[in-house]
Amino acid sequence: MSDQGSGVVLVTDVAVAPVVGPEIESGYIRIEGDRIAELGPGPAPDVPGAVRIDGSGCLATPGLVNTHHHLYQWASQGLVQDATLFEWLVALYPVWAAMDAEVVRGAATAGLGWLALSGCTTTSDHHYVFPKGRGDLLAAEIEAAREVGLRFHPARGSMDRGHSKGGLPPDAVVEDLDDILTATAEAVDAYHDPSFASMLRVVVAPCSPFSASAELMTESAALARAAGVRLHTHLAETLDEDEHCLEQFGTRPVDYMDKLGWLGPDVWFAHAVHLSDGDIGKLAATGTGVAHCPSSNGRLGAGIARVSELLRGGVPVGLGVDGSASSELTPLSGEMRQALLFQRARLGPRALSARQALELATLGGARNLGREAELGTLQPGKLADVALWRIDGPFTPAVPDPVCALVFGPPPPLTRLLVGGRTVVAAGELRTVPQDVAGRAGVAARRRLLRAAEEQGVTVGSELDVRSRSTRRS
Ligand SMILES: [Zn+2]
Repeated sequence: MSDQGSGVVLVTDVAVAPVVGPEIESGYIRIEGDRIAELGPGPAPDVPGAVRIDGSGCLATPGLVNTHHHLYQWASQGLVQDATLFEWLVALYPVWAAMDAEVVRGAATAGLGWLALSGCTTTSDHHYVFPKGRGDLLAAEIEAAREVGLRFHPARGSMDRGHSKGGLPPDAVVEDLDDILTATAEAVDAYHDPSFASMLRVVVAPCSPFSASAELMTESAALARAAGVRLHTHLAETLDEDEHCLEQFGTRPVDYMDKLGWLGPDVWFAHAVHLSDGDIGKLAATGTGVAHCPSSNGRLGAGIARVSELLRGGVPVGLGVDGSASSELTPLSGEMRQALLFQRARLGPRALSARQALELATLGGARNLGREAELGTLQPGKLADVALWRIDGPFTPAVPDPVCALVFGPPPPLTRLLVGGRTVVAAGELRTVPQDVAGRAGVAARRRLLRAAEEQGVTVGSELDVRSRSTRRS
């Protein structure tokens, strides 16, 4: 699958931030097949027949790893602009209930293309809305990931706790427990590839404490552990969730997860914003990971996760863009800066360094996905997932520290993206799927979803936006 005739790619004259091991001011990376064979300072070795990629003026980092997303939300951006998470979800569940496989396919193509253009080589996706009779939604996003060429960890999400059972979503968008468990087991059987170079691993992911029953959580954990796959859910995102858990379960979110057997090195939680010191201790002691999604938390006014304390405690922390609607059009590369600024705003300028932010986006993400042996650093033997950032452009900071240039400012242009040695982005353009085709697929998905929602009686663009319009008038 890699570009090379001889099986060798040489990235030359490039600054390298490998995340682990010494940084290189000017050097090379030798790739053989889908693996990194060697990297070092100075000129590249002469390898007859090798494909050479000129890295001058660029910084090479590991490909970024996105650990929380909802690709389908590409089709519902910009709605319910000034709402809390619960208000936003309640307004959008009926819209999402109108999606079908075509919407998911188009939204995922655009969303994955956008991720690739922001340096992402591996992404998870948490899909948890499965309206009946609308085609195979999971297969649709898996097809899109194969086309765009990113490593994909689709999390088969689920909700079984509708309004009548004390949950947040309307009963019409939840599934039956047995149906969920059957579909999830089938997804693992059909798609999960545990191999070292895997392009696809399935994750088991009930949606949240306020939309999944305790039985679904425990049965899902048993299923995942029997199959050797990982577990993921939303947790401790808002104070509303804290209240909901205290009222309905008599415990706060982390203690509830503990009770359900949902802490462990095979679990990572999205958000984990509202944590006590004791909660952080529990995550650290059990090796439970966190996907930090700063732009989404900012957009929905959820709060700021205690990332500095989580890192100090030894908790694995990765970054996530979260849904294309809860964070809007957030590039994953920009989340490094957002994470850094949020922690510094909380705790001062030494709260998070540029290199720590880069580590969150790479090795931290790989740890969340259970792939630190294969991904997340540039080291011999690891998979050749590499991002090349242009740091000598007219609008990139003229600073001697390339990692500062990458993290401190707006994301610099991505010039090349390799996934297992295969080019996905070259000269800043998507090469696996025509970029304009990917973009148009997202636009078409949005039109199709909003039209279908209106046909089902959801008044998109008026009632949904009442809050934002009334705010503007006042
Ligand atoms: Zn989410």
